[in-house]
Parts: sequence; C-alpha cells; structure tokens
Amino acid sequence: MARQGSATRDGQKDAYDLILEAIDVGIYKPGDRLVESELAERFGMSRTPIREALQRLEIQSLLTRDGRSLIVASLDHNQLSELYAVRTELEALAARLAARHAAPEEMRVLREMVTQDRKLVGDAQAMARANRRFHNQLHLASHNRYLVQQLDLVYRSMALMATTSLAVPGRDREALDEHEAIVTAIEKRDEAAADEALRRHLSRAFETRLLLGAGEVPAADALSLSRDEEAVRS
Ligand SMILES: [Zn+2]
Repeated sequence: MARQGSATRDGQKDAYDLILEAIDVGIYKPGDRLVESELAERFGMSRTPIREALQRLEIQSLLTRDGRSLIVASLDHNQLSELYAVRTELEALAARLAARHAAPEEMRVLREMVTQDRKLVGDAQAMARANRRFHNQLHLASHNRYLVQQLDLVYRSMALMATTSLAVPGRDREALDEHEAIVTAIEKRDEAAADEALRRHLSRAFETRLLLGAGEVPAADALSLSRDEEAVRS
C-alpha cells in the first residue's frame, strides 16, 4: 500500500501509524489524553519518535491541547456530515473505477476478504480493522493514485469518530453483506451497480453512526473493548 510514512524500511510501523491505528480502532477515543511515556511503553519505543508523531498529529488537528496535555480531537455533528459527504463521493468514484480497472487477482482478494471477515463477526475491534483493510483494498483497485491519496486523508479524519458503527449489534453482519454486494458488482464490471452498492453501504454506516451518537442504539462491544484494553495494559 502506497501510504506515505506507513512503514519504516524493515516493514515496522512507525510511531505515527501506530498511534493513528490505535485511535482508529478505538483503543484511544476522542477526549482521551495521550501520554508520551505510556505510548512509548505500549509500543516498545523510545520517547523521541513518539514525541515527533504526537507533534505531527497535533499539526494535522487529530490531537488538540487541553492545558498542557494532548487529547484526541473529536468531530462535531457538522464535521461528521461533511466528512461522510466527501467520503461517499470519493469512494463511489473508487468503486466505479475498480469495476472498470480492477485486475482479476484484486477482485479475488476483495472476495476473499469478505469471506474471511465473516469469522470476525462479534469482535468490534477486529471488524473495524478488517473494514479498514477492505476499503483500502477497494481504493487501490481503483488504480488512481490521486484518489487513493485523497481517501487516505479522509480516513485519517475518520479515525476521530468516537466508536465504530460496527460495534452496534447486527451491524457487522449487515456491513459484510454490503461489502459483498460491492464486490459482486465489481466482479461483473458493473460500474453503476458498484457505485450504488457503495453509496448504500456508506449511507447505512452514517445512519448507524447518527443513531449511535443520539444514544438510540447501544454499542454492544464497549465493554469488551475496555476488557481488551485491560488485557493489553496488564
Ligand atoms: Zn465497509
């Protein structure tokens, strides 16, 4: 994957990516304080790369200052709507381009991901990671590097959404069915169907997130996430 700064030469993720991923999968949530020494210990790194990564994330507005501490920024309702609007248009374009340009091997990888990801149903954190992998693969299948870069920016900001919509009971299974519909359309090289399936998927994701934000649906995995968290800490 051609993401800038995604890995060091030996394939190890750098501090920036590790912190971003931890925010992305909900280990650190909006409002949480990020402490240099704790991060250094968690990732088994010295404090210098952690400090540099935190500075970079602050410049990108993914972290904000609260007095002397750095906290994970959060998105308000308007930012969330704006982000979904951009994400939907860009990803619909990616889906159409993937239907046109994806290599047979890429289609098989997407199909295999949907099959494999069904084993992760019920594990919100694993599903969030799997969802991210699926969308990344979809972006790459568009064979448009500028689009991949723009989507990368959008996904970086998306890490600031408090909980994954996949933590809502039943939503993970539903999301996988939607992924499958996208893959089927791409396999048929049906650009209009790929566009439509992608829009339906993101519309449902957005709706679920709004319901979650309004407290209308419970995030079933909030407890198990914090238990995982304990396991990681102890
Ligand atoms: Zn998805």
